[in-house]
Amino acid sequence: MKKMNIGVIPGDGVGKEVMPEAVKVLDAIAEVHGGLSFEYKSYPYSCEYYLEHGKMMADDGLEQLKNHDAVFLGAVGNPQLVPDHISLWGLLIAIRREFEQVINVRPAKQLRGIQSPLANPKGFDFVVVRENSEGEYSEVGGRIHRGADEVAIQNAVFTRKGTERAMRFAFDLAKERNSHVTSATKSNGIVHSMPFWDEVFRSVGEDYQDVDTVSNHIDALAAFLITRPEAFDVIVASNLFGDILTDVGAAIMGSIGVAPAANINLNGKFPSMFEPVHGSAPDIVGKGIANPVGQIWTGKMMLDHLGEQELGQKLLDVIEEVLEAGYKTPDIGGNATTKEVTEEIAQRLKAL
Ligand code: ATP
Ligand code: MG
Repeated sequence: MKKMNIGVIPGDGVGKEVMPEAVKVLDAIAEVHGGLSFEYKSYPYSCEYYLEHGKMMADDGLEQLKNHDAVFLGAVGNPQLVPDHISLWGLLIAIRREFEQVINVRPAKQLRGIQSPLANPKGFDFVVVRENSEGEYSEVGGRIHRGADEVAIQNAVFTRKGTERAMRFAFDLAKERNSHVTSATKSNGIVHSMPFWDEVFRSVGEDYQDVDTVSNHIDALAAFLITRPEAFDVIVASNLFGDILTDVGAAIMGSIGVAPAANINLNGKFPSMFEPVHGSAPDIVGKGIANPVGQIWTGKMMLDHLGEQELGQKLLDVIEEVLEAGYKTPDIGGNATTKEVTEEIAQRLKAL
């Protein structure tokens, strides 16, 4: 019996609604598979936890989470209770950093049964590999002078190590997919970091002769994701560019509520963390209509990561079947509840 030991953090808002549903689906998979079981430990870390304890997680929170095969997270943030910079830095970013989750992986795929806002989508299916630890989101810089002479300086940090490992991850992934990597650059406007990025891309690419490569400037690339998203397989991008492209990816899928994501640890010293793209969605909390597909698809990425790709593929097939059969929450044009969608997915899995 293969046991997977999962640390579960439902978090805030709709995270608390979609997480139990995704767990039900994982249990349905384990039931079908026989040789597989999940063991969960749930952690209450959230903005409510902060109000009670003055911190987003227990002092030994990271120590405890470290022991799991993976961390499965819902959503963090409730700006009415706790300012975002406290909740995000105190939990999400603390885990990403401490567990060296240096790569963020975000697939975008046209799912059967969901209407993309694109007029005539031709079956796109790509993955953005986003550098998750450095780049434009560095804390290097500052502000000098006051008033009319004020200057703000923000430095981007690109290390060879950080850039190379993101590229290698993208190329390795492309080998398992359609052997095509697009690099998001802007070396015509950003004159130090982006030419460096291009250089590393070219040199890593030499180790992968059978993978096709293209470099696109970020502005053009963002437009291509609207006009011909089916042309892409794997896209490798810096922290900021990846952030932007993955929101475009979620948008063309039809709803942020379906978009999955993974924060990957590469050195095997710490668990990776699986967390959908959407936030806590305070505007729909308590209505029972949060789309569970993002969380469930994120669970599929966790299965893949833990070596169960075949089951992962089955799960995604069932998700698409259920959407096609019309079990859809309001954000994608249906009138089903979170629980109805999940129940249908779980039933169909058990019937496999
Ligand atoms: P964050 O700052 O945490 O990224 P946000 O406030 O920018 O979050 P979300 O919380 O993701 O963004 O919400 C953005 C919009 O998407 C809201 O209108 C929300 O209702 C909707 N949304 C987010 N997640 C879901 C979901 N699972 N199902 C349906 N709608 C969702
Ligand atoms: Mg928010």
